Formats: sequence, structure tokens, C-alpha cells
Amino acid sequence: MLNSSVLVLNRGFFPVHVTSVRRAFCLLYAGLARAINDQYETFDYPSWSALSVSAGNEAVGLVGRAVRVPRVVVLVAYDRVPRRNVRFSRRNIFVRDRNTCQYCGRPFPSSELNLDHVVPRSQGGKTSWENIVCSCVPCNKKKGGHRPDQAGMRLVSAPGTPRWSPEYAFSLRTPIHKEWVPFLNVIDFTYWNLELQD
Ligand SMILES: [Zn+2]
Repeated sequence: MLNSSVLVLNRGFFPVHVTSVRRAFCLLYAGLARAINDQYETFDYPSWSALSVSAGNEAVGLVGRAVRVPRVVVLVAYDRVPRRNVRFSRRNIFVRDRNTCQYCGRPFPSSELNLDHVVPRSQGGKTSWENIVCSCVPCNKKKGGHRPDQAGMRLVSAPGTPRWSPEYAFSLRTPIHKEWVPFLNVIDFTYWNLELQD
């Protein structure tokens, strides 16, 4: 339970992070964040820990008593969107390209997409944000070991380093708690097939 996920919002209620229950309690206790209930009311640590725990509430035992588990916390002072670097990973390339083949423009499940070197490695192409795109199997076959211009193909958009957005805070394994849904309207999370957790 202490390692399960909590959504972190900035002061403007924009999702900026996913953290653990343990870390969320640290933020609350330090006065850096407030917990949010299902009525969108915010609570500091003393008022949150004084809430009664009923049968339907998730709770943890802290210093000898049961305290409700917050599923969403809001940072008290932080009002920006993090200028965090997006890790160069297979999953994040899928996120950047929205699981769309960058040659034919059609969406595919991740399992049906390859990562393609735009300029093939055999022609000096690097493994970087600027040179890797999602490609479906037929487009990949058609392109073979060529550059797009050599294969008579065009990229849907020029690949580059993505700017951070909330999509990158989630991994495919991140369960979405129902308490998060009202705050995730900036994310098309059904698109990502993220698992909604009761
Ligand atoms: Zn394609």
C-alpha cells in the first residue's frame, strides 16, 4: 500500500508527477503538499489524518492509528510544469509518436510497431530522438535499408526531442486510480490503454 501510486498536481491542479503513498505522506507531513478528497477539498496533514476512516476507504496504520490514503495531492508552492528531460526509451518514443507509424500515419498497438532509424545505421544514422521513429511492419519492409528519400517515402513529421508532458509520467504498468480521472483530462488516457483501477 505504501508503495502504490499517488497523482501529484501542481498548484494549478495540473498533473506533474506520480509518486508513492510513502512519499506523498512525506510531502503532506512537511507541508509541501495538501491531500485532495473526492469533493476536491484540500487538507493539510493534521486535518487529513483526523478524517475518520470508513469501510470504503483505503487506509494505512501510522503511529498507531489508521489514516486515509490520499490518491491525489496538490503541491502548495509549485505552479510550473516541470522542465524535465524525457528519457530516451522505447516506450517514450511510442508516446512521442502517439503509436502512429511515421511513414503511413496510421496508429498501431505497440506490439505491431518497430523503431526505425530514419537514416539507417549503415549510412551513419544515430540512435537518437532525431533519427528514431515508430514504423509499422509494412512500411519498415518497404523502406528496407534506405533513407526515406531513397525509398520514395516521407515522414509524417520531423522527429525531435519531445518536451515533457504528463503522458511521460506514466508507464504502461501505472494503474490509474479512479480518483485521478478528473485531473487527467489533459491526457487521453484511454488512448494509451492504461488500466483503470477501482
Ligand atoms: Zn506504416
